[in-house]
Amino acid sequence: MAQYDYDLFVIGAGSGGVRAARIAAQHGARVGVAEEFRYGGTCVIRGCVPKKLFVYASKFGKDFEDAAGYGWSLSEKPSFDFAKLVEAKDAEITRLEGIYRRNLDKVGVELHDTRAVLEGPNQIRLLATNTVVTAERILIAVGAKANIDPDLPGREHVITSNEAFHMAELPKRILVAGGGYIAVEFAGIFAGMGVETTLMYRGEEILRGFDDDVRTTLHEEMVKKGINVITKDTIARIDKEGEELHVTAKSGEKHVFDKVMFAIGRSPNTEDLGLDKAGVALDDKGAIKVTADSQTNVPNIYAVGDVTNRANLTPVALREGHAFADSIYGDKAWVVDHSMIPTAVFSQPEIGTAGLTQAEAEASYDNIDIYKTSFRPMKHTLSGRDEKTMMKMIVDADTDKILGVHIMGPESGELIQLIGVTLTMGATKADYDRTIAVHPTSAEELVTMREPTERIRKNG
Ligand code: NDP
Repeated sequence: MAQYDYDLFVIGAGSGGVRAARIAAQHGARVGVAEEFRYGGTCVIRGCVPKKLFVYASKFGKDFEDAAGYGWSLSEKPSFDFAKLVEAKDAEITRLEGIYRRNLDKVGVELHDTRAVLEGPNQIRLLATNTVVTAERILIAVGAKANIDPDLPGREHVITSNEAFHMAELPKRILVAGGGYIAVEFAGIFAGMGVETTLMYRGEEILRGFDDDVRTTLHEEMVKKGINVITKDTIARIDKEGEELHVTAKSGEKHVFDKVMFAIGRSPNTEDLGLDKAGVALDDKGAIKVTADSQTNVPNIYAVGDVTNRANLTPVALREGHAFADSIYGDKAWVVDHSMIPTAVFSQPEIGTAGLTQAEAEASYDNIDIYKTSFRPMKHTLSGRDEKTMMKMIVDADTDKILGVHIMGPESGELIQLIGVTLTMGATKADYDRTIAVHPTSAEELVTMREPTERIRKNG
């Protein structure tokens, strides 16, 4: 008889956990999974997937307006039914959750619909049945949760992106707090759906960590779309008066909204998980400390995804889960390369980014060339919409290697995926120069930028 109930027990059925469980089972491991909420995790249930559906929904209003420049007219003014969108989105999420469950089931993974906590290095307590199961190895893939300032007076009136996906109706006025991915994406969603939208960010400029040209251009474009972007301020208190939320900012400014949504970062879900009982060490942000191959300080316990706070993105969690399962249960050990992660922000306009920002490149390279262009995309010549597309390439002037690409405009997410392939392969500017353009597209700008717009040289 086997010493343990399972070879592998996975806590958390999100992107990383499901991938690891499925691959390990395909390699022949006896695998159990516990999930306390819904299969698919943050990305599928209340993150990337519903967010992107909301982004699509929020763009139609502008599309109807743009169609007029192409000769279209609508006999009726378009109207938007938010409840209908939520219903359709929920049906799609339920369908996807079913696929996640079935895919695990098909490869023989045992599913436990319960919260699970560690009792020791090989013991897991399943709270729904209050039973303990054992496993040779344990993978923790429990993700992260949205932060709300714990000391904020009136914090009970605040929603996060979790609730934004399930509002009974759209508010008339909303304040989105934060200036990261989620804040700019949701500000665009709400504004596109006709909500009077304000974004309040504590720093000088939104999207800290992104290339400065991307940050300032997105800020300008958001303002053009009617979003009130407030920088260098935060919420000091929120008072509910009737149905209204009265917000007092640190600056002393007062504002009135119907909803306030926080998007001020996320924290690893490591509380009350029994990690102390198993002796698993955390870092100062409460994330599980792991090695490059996702091993914790307890040799048979591993962790992947947002709970480890490496690069908090679904494709990265998938990779980490896959690498773990292949390395332990397959015959090929590999580790995830976190050095080149192309990513998209589904702001409006969309952002795609791969590699170093200009500031990062300037800090690490002596001589760099910047190629930058900004233009009105062809579609808007007839629609008349005042929206810019921006493309920027950062090149090491000594080796010609492309260090970073940052783009903003329609379908930048699609584009950056393939640009990411070229950067991963080590593409040079000359490689782009000898690539024949695809005409007429926006992307052709990337292969036709001949002269640097800026030459930065460390020694003069
Ligand atoms: P981010 O870390 O991207 O941004 C957090 C924002 O909140 C920053 O602007 C930060 O300011 C601000 N902030 C932090 N603490 C406070 C505070 N106490 N008071 C006021 N403002 C504060 O987090 P998000 O919540 O936007 O997203 C969470 C994660 O989800 C991201 O890290 C990302 O990896 C992932 N994600 C990815 C998406 C994608 O790939 N398209 C989409 C959505 C989420 P400052 O900059 O000054 O620190």
